[in-house]
Amino acid sequence: MQNWPGLKNWIKTINFNKTLSLFSSATIKLTLFYVLIVMAISVIFSVSLYDISSNELERGLGRQVGIIRNISRSNSLQPMPDFNQIQLDQLDESNRHLKMNLVYFNLLILFLSSLVSYILAKKTLEPIEEAMNAQNRFTADASHELRTPLTAMRSEIEVALRNKNLSKDEAKKLLSSNLEEIDKLESLSNALLKLACYQDDKNTLTKISLEEIIVNAYEKIETLANQKDISFENELLDLKVKGDKASLTELFVILLENAIKYSPKSSKISISMKKDRDKAVIFVQDQGIGIKASDLPHIFNRFYRADNSRSKEKAEGYGLGLAIAKQIANLHDGSISVESKPGQGSKFTIKLDLFN
Ligand code: ADP
Repeated sequence: MQNWPGLKNWIKTINFNKTLSLFSSATIKLTLFYVLIVMAISVIFSVSLYDISSNELERGLGRQVGIIRNISRSNSLQPMPDFNQIQLDQLDESNRHLKMNLVYFNLLILFLSSLVSYILAKKTLEPIEEAMNAQNRFTADASHELRTPLTAMRSEIEVALRNKNLSKDEAKKLLSSNLEEIDKLESLSNALLKLACYQDDKNTLTKISLEEIIVNAYEKIETLANQKDISFENELLDLKVKGDKASLTELFVILLENAIKYSPKSSKISISMKKDRDKAVIFVQDQGIGIKASDLPHIFNRFYRADNSRSKEKAEGYGLGLAIAKQIANLHDGSISVESKPGQGSKFTIKLDLFN
C-alpha cells in the first residue's frame, strides 16, 4: 500500500507557514489597534492638560501683573512701559516648555505602549494560534489517513484495468479488497464523526447506572473477546453517575476493544470499580503487550499509535479511540489515565462524578 508521509509533511508545512504569517500580521494589527487607542487617549489628555495649564498660567500672570500695578500705583511709581510684552514673552516661553514636555511625554507613551501592546497582542493571540495549529495538524493527519485507503484502491483498480485478461476470480478478489478499504474509510469517518460530536454538550447528562453501562459495552465486544478466547473478571458495584449513556458506553467499548486487541489469546481482562468520596473510579486492566513509557504521554493524542501497534501483526486502528475516550471523559468533567509496563499489561483508570 502506497504511503504519503511526504504529502502529509507538505500539507503540515504549508498550513504552519500560513498560520505563522496570518498570526504575525494579526499580532501587528492588534498592536497597532492597541497603540492607536492608547495614543488617542494620551493626545486628548495632553491637549486638555495644555489648555488647562496655559489658561492657568495666563490667569496667574494676570494676577501678578495686577498686584505689581497696584503696588506701583499706591507707591506712585511709574509702571514699566513694556510690562505687557514681558508678560506675553513669559507666557509664550512657559507654553513652549509645556508643549515640549507634552511631546516628550507622548513619545515616551508611544514607545512604551508599542512595547506593551505587542506583548499583550501576542499573549491574546497565543491560545488561538495554538488551537489553530492543532486544528491544522488534525486536518493534515485526517486527510492523510483518508487518502491511504483511497490510494490503495486506485492503484489496485488501475492495475486491474491494464490487465486485458482479467479473470472473474481476479475481479472478485479486487472487489473484496476494495470493500476492505471502504470498510476502513467507513470506520475512520465514523471515528472522525464521533470526535466531532462529543464536544461540550453537557445537556444530556442524567443519572445512569455504571453497571448497566459496562454490561452494555461488554455485549458489544463479546464476540470479539470470544474469537480470542479472552475471559473477563468483573467486580461491579451499584454506582450511579452523572452521564450520557451512549457516550459512556462508547468509552468503555473503546477501552475493552483495545484491551482485547492488544492482548494475547486466552488472556484475562478485569473490570473493577470503587467509590472514592464523590467519584466513581473504574479500572480496566489487561494482560496484554503493554505500552512503553515513552509512548504513554502521547496515546491520548489524536492519530497517535505506539510503535508496537504498527508492527507486523499490527492491530487495526487509526489512533483515534483513546482521543475519543478522553473527549468523552472530559465531557463528563471526569478523567482517564493509564499505567502500563511493556509485556505486563495496561491498567486504565476512569474517574466520573457520582450522582448525588
Ligand atoms: P488504535 O487502537 O486505533 O491504534 P487508540 O487511540 O485506541 O488507537 O490507542 C492509541 C495507541 O495506544 C494504540 O495504537 C496502542 O499503541 C496503545 N494502546 C491503547 N490501548 C492499549 C492497550 N490496552 N494495551 C496496549 N496498548 C494500547
